[in-house]
Amino acid sequence: MSDVSDVKLKQIWAEALLDIKAAVGDGAFKTWISKLDIAGIDDIVLKLIAPSNFIRDNVLSRFSNDIIKIMNSYGCQIRTISVDVYDKGAATISSISDNDTEKIGIKEYQDISVLDKRFTFKNFVIGKPNEFAYAAALRISESEVPTFNPLFLYGGVGLGKTHLMHAIAWNTHHHFPRKKVIYLSAEKFMYLFIKSLRFKNAISFKEMFRTVDALMIDDVQFIGGKDTTQEEFFHTFNELVDNNKQVILSADKSPSDLGGVEDRLKSRLGWGLVADIHPTTYELRLGILQSKTKQFKATVPDNVLEFLAGKITSNIRELEGALNRIIAHSTLVGRRITLEVAQEVLKDILRTNEKLITIDFIQRKVCEYYGVKLSDLTSARRHKAVTTARQIAMYLCKDLTSRSLPDIGKNFGGKDHSTVIHAIKKIKDLMANDNAFNADLEILKKSLQN
Ligand code: ADP
Ligand code: MG
Repeated sequence: MSDVSDVKLKQIWAEALLDIKAAVGDGAFKTWISKLDIAGIDDIVLKLIAPSNFIRDNVLSRFSNDIIKIMNSYGCQIRTISVDVYDKGAATISSISDNDTEKIGIKEYQDISVLDKRFTFKNFVIGKPNEFAYAAALRISESEVPTFNPLFLYGGVGLGKTHLMHAIAWNTHHHFPRKKVIYLSAEKFMYLFIKSLRFKNAISFKEMFRTVDALMIDDVQFIGGKDTTQEEFFHTFNELVDNNKQVILSADKSPSDLGGVEDRLKSRLGWGLVADIHPTTYELRLGILQSKTKQFKATVPDNVLEFLAGKITSNIRELEGALNRIIAHSTLVGRRITLEVAQEVLKDILRTNEKLITIDFIQRKVCEYYGVKLSDLTSARRHKAVTTARQIAMYLCKDLTSRSLPDIGKNFGGKDHSTVIHAIKKIKDLMANDNAFNADLEILKKSLQN
């Protein structure tokens, strides 16, 4: 199976990962295996890539046998594993000159190929939740000089921040090949900084970042709490912005919500344009699935895509994983993809996405959120705070569970179904007329679903 195509190998790997997870357990999987990438198969050698020596050594010593066994169960004939170490987080798109890299010893990170080729604007599906961030990213990459600086992209895990950043890098390179763009993770930034301190060449570190045209730092939430790095970051940042060089940052939170970050830095980060990527909608998820199916040149029936878009709501990475797995499965066993096949193949993923929301769970969460006692919620008390919380809980029970109105009433201290109907109407009215209330309820609802 050494001549297996890249796409197919990726699919096998995606499928095998699930078995490996089952074999080694969730914790070990998350710590070690999930960090690996597959590079290829060379005869009897499975070639993997790890982000650090530490991970490489652990994988080789502890998990080789499991990995080999499982890959071979998919028809591979692997005897041994080799693991290369590289760093996904750092890349320079137009290269840092040898001279600079020599000084700071980051030669190994020069390779432009560490920017993901698939993470382009063309491959980015636009929908309500990300259209603003997309537009901002596109504009930045097409502008000769910064129009807003910095661009601060933020949003939850797996919603496309890194994709957009790579797309900016690719597109900037396309429009302005002479521009020097550096993309790196905040962790890498810290690592380089600390390393430069150790080798006492902090000056060249500063120079290196201060001579770029655009600096992108991904996941800056990791800079929080690290005082000297933060200081350095702040200086580098100010100097770039003052010199009209583009700075692009991403994080999982808005600037003002970043923990462990000094106030002056927080406020400075918000000076340019802050664009958030919202959680996905059904339409966006479906659009992404359709686009990926096309990219794979695979045939997946509409009802399967609709099913996935409806069920896998956590993030896009997981959605992609599910699709890969279905396609891999059908390629391997040579079966047409149907809804039944999809459900069978995704059994475990579907279970974790379908967190069971019960009336009891909703009641407890609502009490926590609005600070009322559980016993009050199921009583006949008519204190306003209690009544509202009770009505909200009833509304959420109707919205998030499949229980009937009489059933819901019964669980609130034996109330009648007409009480539940009244509650639902009351809450809907409030939602329609009170934005703050509406926003609050949305937050509560999300916290129940996640
Ligand atoms: P983040 O950095 O926000 O955690 P990523 O950028 O790594 O998320 O995205 C996770 C995966 O989802 C990537 O494979 C990416 O290509 C894909 N993805 C995210 N958003 C989109 C989109 N709008 N269209 C197509 N693929 C997307
Ligand atoms: Mg990311």
